[in-house]
Amino acid sequence: MQDRLIYLASPYSHHDPDVRAARALAVAKVAGDLMGKGHLIFSPVCHTHLICETRGLPFEFTFWERHDRAILKACKALWVVQLPGYKESQGIWAEKACAMDSGIPIMYVCPHCCYFSAVDATCQCPSSTTTKPTLNL
Ligand SMILES: [Zn+2]
Repeated sequence: MQDRLIYLASPYSHHDPDVRAARALAVAKVAGDLMGKGHLIFSPVCHTHLICETRGLPFEFTFWERHDRAILKACKALWVVQLPGYKESQGIWAEKACAMDSGIPIMYVCPHCCYFSAVDATCQCPSSTTTKPTLNL
């Protein structure tokens, strides 16, 4: 069973299509980094973002829940990417509940350095701990 996927949960739903696109791009980078490190990753947001946009399908989690649950139950772990909005994401809460019901372990992943931990805490890497100044353009 070594070849089972890791389900990479990340925030997606938002009324602003630019935010959804930015969220899909952000998790694509993390998924790519993790794949580059040898992890077997499935990102439901990467999988569905273009499908959703090109066919005008609903972006809300309620539409995708059945798809996501089917895949999550086949995965060996649920990794939550700590991108902005992950704590408020209805989809992530539902995915975590599904994982807990199914006995699937949950980890949290820093989007900057890909460090993962069973504890939902802020990573101590420079990118996570540095406060970036707001640009006034
Ligand atoms: Zn980090």
